[in-house]
Amino acid sequence: MKYLALIALFLLAAGISAALIQPKPDSTMPKKIKPTYSKSAYSVAHLSKERIDELAKKLKPDEVEVILAKGTERAFCGNLYDNHKDGVYVCRLCGLPLFASKEKFDSGTGWPSFFSPFDTDHVDYERDTAHGMTRTEILCTRCGAHLGHVFDDGPKPTGLRYCVNSVSLEFVEQGKDGKINWPEASKPLATQTAYFAGGCFWGVEDRLQQVPGVIDAVSGYQAGKGKNPTYEEVCTHTTGFAETVKVVFDPAKVSYKELLGWFFKIHDPTQLNRQGPDVGDNYRSAIFADNDEQLAQAKAFIEEQAKTERFKGRKIVTQVAKVADVGPFYAAEDYHQDYHLKHGGSCPLPND
Ligand SMILES: [Zn+2]
Repeated sequence: MKYLALIALFLLAAGISAALIQPKPDSTMPKKIKPTYSKSAYSVAHLSKERIDELAKKLKPDEVEVILAKGTERAFCGNLYDNHKDGVYVCRLCGLPLFASKEKFDSGTGWPSFFSPFDTDHVDYERDTAHGMTRTEILCTRCGAHLGHVFDDGPKPTGLRYCVNSVSLEFVEQGKDGKINWPEASKPLATQTAYFAGGCFWGVEDRLQQVPGVIDAVSGYQAGKGKNPTYEEVCTHTTGFAETVKVVFDPAKVSYKELLGWFFKIHDPTQLNRQGPDVGDNYRSAIFADNDEQLAQAKAFIEEQAKTERFKGRKIVTQVAKVADVGPFYAAEDYHQDYHLKHGGSCPLPND
């Protein structure tokens, strides 16, 4: 009887929740285009129907009923609603990490409940008007598995309650060393990082973010005196910091050399301590190599470029240095991130 009463409560709460609930935008705002990669470096491109069908072969009938047919398991019957171990909850169908134990709370509903997802790009939202109610269904972004619903009666800081079926999830327990021993399907991509300075970081970030294989581009400051500089400090031209963009990329999709190529296409490496109307050493052209291999590639690339028609009679003044020598990258203030995405002025990548 207890679960029937709770189902009634659940349905009541669902019924009054008419609007499509979306998580509040974080500092980076939702992307206009559905991302191919998530911030936590997972491929979130939707799997093909063939791949989903193949993955679905492993599902048991009760899992098919929930994950593919959008059913709901009985409250207090799943194996994870009272799981209090530390770890991560991944998609039962495709393995994408969906929720973490640090965001789990006891909602008393009998279903595993979380106040936010593992990564905002890992959960999709659909308006669900089944059973005479209007609710917000939650699904795995990568495979479309039905997870449950999200309601706006959750705890702080989000005020959201992601109500998830246990059978849609698989729990991966954290090791004693605090690390997660990820199953193969749940491993993040083996990413690499590059750092480029080429004038105002708004435009450099915007364009590099569009390069296929780039997971994330972040605006910031690098290679100056001191720590954690502010934009105002950098603009005084006394700190030596360059407006720099940190690029996290998937080397299986785009090579460092290809990124160097894009970087040279989107700025003029012959302008010393300026870029167009932006004048000052904070707008200098620079490549900060993450390791010796990148350093060698950057130097070889510039030598190669210097011999091309484009740079005939014009000297490339790009600074090339190792991160270990110039110091770490400091992310810029939130209002500088995704600036063109938020305010317009985005330019497509050049064709040639
Ligand atoms: Zn999935």
